[in-house]
Amino acid sequence: MLTPLSLKTLPNVSQYDTHPPSGYNLTMQTDVPNHTINLYDLSRRELRSLLSNWGYSDFYAARIWDALYRQHVTALCGIPDLRPDLLASLRKETHLGILPVKIATDSNDGFTRKFLLRLHDRQTIEAVLMTFKGRATACVSTQAGCAMGCIFCATGQMGFKRHLSAGEIVAQVLHVSRILRDRGKSLRNVVLMGMGEPLHNYDATMKALDIIIDHNGLAIAPRHITLSTVGLVPGIRRLADEERQVRLAVSLHGASDAERQALIPPARRWPLMELMDACQYYSEKRKRRIFFEWTLIAGENDTTEQAHALGQLLQTLDAHVNLIPLNPTVGFAGQPAHEKGAKEFQAILAQYGLPSTVRQRRGIDIAAGCGQLRARDSQS
Ligand code: SAH
Ligand code: SF4
Repeated sequence: MLTPLSLKTLPNVSQYDTHPPSGYNLTMQTDVPNHTINLYDLSRRELRSLLSNWGYSDFYAARIWDALYRQHVTALCGIPDLRPDLLASLRKETHLGILPVKIATDSNDGFTRKFLLRLHDRQTIEAVLMTFKGRATACVSTQAGCAMGCIFCATGQMGFKRHLSAGEIVAQVLHVSRILRDRGKSLRNVVLMGMGEPLHNYDATMKALDIIIDHNGLAIAPRHITLSTVGLVPGIRRLADEERQVRLAVSLHGASDAERQALIPPARRWPLMELMDACQYYSEKRKRRIFFEWTLIAGENDTTEQAHALGQLLQTLDAHVNLIPLNPTVGFAGQPAHEKGAKEFQAILAQYGLPSTVRQRRGIDIAAGCGQLRARDSQS
C-alpha cells in the first residue's frame, strides 16, 4: 500500500520506486498466520469495536489492552482472566506480531544494545535500546530499507524494501520496553531514527505513535518522542497540522542546495527555501523548537563556510543543531569529522546564537548507525 504522500511528491519516481520488488509475496510468510489481525495494528478504539462486534463489552478490550501494553504479554494465552470463548476467538482471528530477534549485539561502552528483528516476510529491520544517565530510549524503524538514497546512509544504500505496518513499528517499541521491564526499568523516550523515512510512511507511523502514546498502555509522553525526517516538505506541513505534540528533527546535512543535493537526493525535489518555509510553518503552528541533524563528514560539510551558512539559515528559527560525526559505511568513502573540527563548527554556530550538541557516536563498534547491522548481516 502506498502512503498518503503520493509517489508524485517524491523526487524521481523510478529512483524512489516504492513498490515491493518482483517476487515479493506475502504468502511466503513463515511464522504467523498472516490472514489474521495483528493486535498491535489496532488502536484502542479499534480493539474495542472488534470485541464489541464479537459481543464482548469494553471491559474485555481494556483487559486485553492492559495485557498487551502494560504487562507486555508475549502470547495470547498469556492474557490473564480471559473467558475461554474469547480466547478461542482471539486465537482464530488475531495474532501478536512479536518480532523475533535475528541478531542482538551490545556495544563495548555498555550503553547500546542493537537488535536485528525479523519480519513475517523475512525482511529484517533494526531497533536499538540506548541507555544514558539512567534514561532509556528506543530507536525504531518505520520502513524496511529506504527510498531516499542518502549516499552516506547504510539504509539508503540498500534501497527500499517495504513500508512497515503500525503494528510492526509498535512491536519494536514493545520489544525494547519488555527488555527494560525485565530489568525493572521503564522506557521513556522513543526516536524514529532507525531504518526508513517516517514521513514517507505517514499513516502507519502516526497510528503507531497514537498506540504508544495511549495513556492506558505504554504511555510514552509525546514530548519524549522524536520524529526525524530527511525533509519531506508536504509531510512536515501535514505534521504541523496534527494534534500530536511530538518533537521534530530535520536531517539537514547541508546549508546550501548544492551541498544538500550532493548528499541527499530528495533535496533536489525540495530545495532549502521550501524546506525552511515548511519548518517556519511548523514552528509557528506548533510553537516548538525544531532539531536539525547534521552528520559531520570530514572535508565535505564540516567547513567553516557551511557552518556560517547554517548559522545564517537557522538564526531566525527556534532551532537546535545535533552534530553527529559520520558512522563510516561500506558504500560511502567519506570519513567522520574530527572532534576538533566539530568543536570549531559548534563555535561558529554559537556566533549566530544557535545552540548545538556534538552527539557521541555510541555503539559504533556494533554498527549502530542507521541500517548498518542489517547491511553487515546481508554481507555475511
Ligand atoms: N529517514 C530519517 C530518519 C532515519 S535516519 C532521516 O533521515 O532523518 C536517522 C538519522 O541518522 C538521520 O539524521 C541520518 O542522517 C543519520 N544517519 C544516517 N546514516 C548515518 C551515518 N552513516 N552516520 C551518521 N549519521 C547517519
Ligand atoms: Fe533514508 Fe534517513 Fe537513511 Fe536518508 S538518512 S536514506 S532518509 S533512512
